[in-house]
Amino acid sequence: MSKFEIKSLGADSRYRGRISEGCQQCAKGRKMVLFITGKCNFHCFYCPISEKRGNKDDIYVNERQISDDDNGISGMIEEAKAINALGTGITCGDPIKVLDRTLKYIRILKKEFGVKHHIHLYTATPVTEEQIRILDDAGLDELRLHILPEFWSGFEKSKYRDSLLAIMKSNITPAVEIPLMPDKKKELKSLILALDEIGLPFINLNELEISETNEQGLDERGYACRKNSLVGVEGSRKAGLEMLKLPVMMGINICTSTHKDSVQLRNRLLQRAKNIARNFDVITNDGTIIYGIIETKNPDETVKKLKKEFGVRKREYRINHEKNRIEIVPELAEEISRKTDLACFIVESYPTYEEIEVERIPLGGHED
Ligand code: SF4
Repeated sequence: MSKFEIKSLGADSRYRGRISEGCQQCAKGRKMVLFITGKCNFHCFYCPISEKRGNKDDIYVNERQISDDDNGISGMIEEAKAINALGTGITCGDPIKVLDRTLKYIRILKKEFGVKHHIHLYTATPVTEEQIRILDDAGLDELRLHILPEFWSGFEKSKYRDSLLAIMKSNITPAVEIPLMPDKKKELKSLILALDEIGLPFINLNELEISETNEQGLDERGYACRKNSLVGVEGSRKAGLEMLKLPVMMGINICTSTHKDSVQLRNRLLQRAKNIARNFDVITNDGTIIYGIIETKNPDETVKKLKKEFGVRKREYRINHEKNRIEIVPELAEEISRKTDLACFIVESYPTYEEIEVERIPLGGHED
């Protein structure tokens, strides 16, 4: 089999040669995302971080916000278990800006899940030898440098080169992860050739994505959305496919917005749905869950009546006191809505910590 055979991790992603263990785990939905801070000094015009998270010193594991204390740490471990995580990606803001915190979380994850729990870290800071040494001691597996576009042409003289060479002397796997800019193909090619020259094992090229926060900056520079995509920038993936043809030994992975959504996120939701679903939840192919709900001011009393009148059994419902509702087998919610005037709905929600609703279909009735 040729080293240059082009393969896919799913959807329209493409790669050739060696790729990161982290990317393989991510495609299976088994890599937890640890957003260690929203703080970052670089202010890239293409930064996709949301208003809610950007520039705030908050921590999230997947979609769940956690506090930086014992409670938060238990929440993080719960979340990792809920998706059967094989690894964690520590991402920006800039994890190096809160280095002590980053080190603490690497140590906790390694202690809880063992040395095989693969941890990669993504930063635009050209890390120093001393920072590499302490990250290595903490157990970091892979360090991905986000080389800023203004250094792609002059990489040989940049601090990023020194960083990568220093990482190569440690136990940490060096890598590079950068956005694919369709108007900077020349600079990108020269960077890839230079990285291959120093022996970098692989590079991750991300399709440039439009978000609520970078839309204006991208628009001002003439970037527009490609056909059949809500977020992918026109020409970005195509530029990545051109890079796959370069005569280099290094592994190249093209990670697209469609892949992130329809493979990585979907598989992560499916993992979580399988772990958290009650026996009355229906898991969809997209990884969302469907169940019936009955809204009532007094769920305990209502359940007593439903047991008597409809023979509802214990395994067919759960009382959610926080939301004043009964969550129940969808068919039962339909039957109850036909025969009573209770406020019944069919709900589809993400199996995430906050159980965000995707759709709510009213079946009739009103809250008692
Ligand atoms: S380095 Fe990353 S987090 Fe910081 S501004 Fe750039 S894209 Fe955003």
